[in-house]
Amino acid sequence: MDIIHLLPDSVANQIAAGEVIQRPSSCLKELVENSLDAGATRIEVLVRDAGRTLLQVIDDGKGMSDTDLRMAFERHATSKIQEAADLFQLTTMGFRGEALASICAVAQVEVQSRRAEDEMGSRLVIHGSQVVEQEPCMCAVGTNFKVKNLFFNIPVRRKFLKTDQTELRNLLAEFYRIVLVYPKVQFTFVSNDEILMDLPAGTEKQRIEQVFGKGQKQTFTTHLVDIASDTELVSIRGFVGKPEVAGKNAQQYFFVNGRYMRHPYFHKAVMTAYEGLLQAEVNPSYFIYLSVNPETIDVNIHPTKTEIKFQDEQPIFQILLATVREALGKFNVSPSLDFDRSGYVEMPVGTSAAVRPTVPTTIDTSYNPFQRTVSKPSALNWQHLYTTPLAEREPLREEQQPLFEQTWAVSQVYQYNGRYLLMPTEGGLMMVDQHRAHICVLYNMYIHQMAEQRTVSQQLLFPEVLSVTQEEVPLVESILEDLRFVGFDIERLDPQSFSIAGVPSMLVDKDAIITLQNILTSVRTTGQDVQQQWRKQIALSLAKDTAIPYGKVLQKEEMEDLMNKLLALKNYRFTEDGKTVVSILSDDELAKKF
Ligand code: ADP
Ligand code: MG
Repeated sequence: MDIIHLLPDSVANQIAAGEVIQRPSSCLKELVENSLDAGATRIEVLVRDAGRTLLQVIDDGKGMSDTDLRMAFERHATSKIQEAADLFQLTTMGFRGEALASICAVAQVEVQSRRAEDEMGSRLVIHGSQVVEQEPCMCAVGTNFKVKNLFFNIPVRRKFLKTDQTELRNLLAEFYRIVLVYPKVQFTFVSNDEILMDLPAGTEKQRIEQVFGKGQKQTFTTHLVDIASDTELVSIRGFVGKPEVAGKNAQQYFFVNGRYMRHPYFHKAVMTAYEGLLQAEVNPSYFIYLSVNPETIDVNIHPTKTEIKFQDEQPIFQILLATVREALGKFNVSPSLDFDRSGYVEMPVGTSAAVRPTVPTTIDTSYNPFQRTVSKPSALNWQHLYTTPLAEREPLREEQQPLFEQTWAVSQVYQYNGRYLLMPTEGGLMMVDQHRAHICVLYNMYIHQMAEQRTVSQQLLFPEVLSVTQEEVPLVESILEDLRFVGFDIERLDPQSFSIAGVPSMLVDKDAIITLQNILTSVRTTGQDVQQQWRKQIALSLAKDTAIPYGKVLQKEEMEDLMNKLLALKNYRFTEDGKTVVSILSDDELAKKF
């Protein structure tokens, strides 16, 4: 006897449905997408018990004829594509013709639909793929879709559903992903007779505010900065959150060609743009809308997957990074100085003028966050600061001009309480922690020295001895080179000790042995056998030990120089270990105090 036979349609559909319809939120997605594809301008979503007993979507779209209504529930029935080639020119959300077949396989569905040109609409009832009723009916133009008792015929699936609270959260999450790309469509969301969302038509920004604002005027979107760029490969528009409002509950959305997507790689591009601007463990919000030629992406992966494959992933990563970085640099409360799109700005403190390389820097001269302050180049020989007492400094000679031409200069810096530097800027009053600012500057300098393998050391009159334990010896050995690059003249003396004949110039009057021990401790606690990590620890530890302390009164030139160097850094807002360096009291906040 032959044993192979075809499964009845209803069973095949149930199996396939499991792929498309996993929970009420997947059902909502399919129905609302169909409404949008039908050109609806108004879409109402009503749910009962988080979609378990009822999920209803009412639209004012183009509706269906009675035959089309019947056809719509057949697998692979679609009005949206004709042939495989069409797949690459998709302008609609749906195209597989699977959703309705899947939904009706696992629920009790009732639909009414009418086209504008028809006097009567049509009503269809299907329970688990079986047509129960179809008849003409009186109804409004558009489609009214009721999905009742989801998974009524698959108890296992029903049991899989989470609590109503969780499923409602899933429904809303799915709803947001759609409404954020269709701001011109009016939406409402009603749960158990309570209106949770009522979203009138508007702009993208207004839609974001409607969804995430707290109901007051512009509470959410005031903290967003516009981004925009147009290239042959991609057009990018959208909004990114200001770093200072980044928090634990960030809203992060990518859309491509009108569709929500997840894209960990592009997410990384955005996060890279925020590098150094965020405190540890907070995330910025972003809403980024990409448009690309549909032929360069593949959306045909899986109906429930939100990952999308891009042909030009790498260049788009770069464009995205640059776009976000520029936007963050431009909004006026963050005087991030866009000196160096290319990377690091050279700051060779402590090298002699003769060997200083000239650094080609491309400078965006059109942008000047310090417009209100006087533009006066800092009249200081940068290399000497903090290593030479002020009185000993010579006046600048021609060839000792500051290393990179500045388009602006810091002036009007005030010291407060021997701890903070205050400086007026375009966006408000900038407050800087002097000790941490110097840590940032020195950290970058030490990292740079190690990368450039350039040694600058101050010889000690009486060499010192660093004694270590047996276990520490290999650790010291492995960072010996880097210690030399940051300025330690260090040699193995005997099995468990090293002689220190020279130290980084800033350590001259300090206890070099304690600093070395601090470095060892921090390197050991990273626990990572990665030179890059070690270097960070060495640089940070050394910077902490050599930075100007609190309580130190600074001369005007010293403050200016420190600010200049700090603001030239790519990441000057936080120290490497995440401590806040710069805080800005905006003009608005200031005004509120009076
Ligand atoms: P797909 O959206 O992939 O084409 P679906 O199973 O979701 O497949 O829908 C099948 C067809 O039913 C659609 O192609 C469309 O012609 C029709 N349809 C579904 N929902 C609606 C609606 N709300 N308004 C008008 N037509 C609809
Ligand atoms: Mg569809």
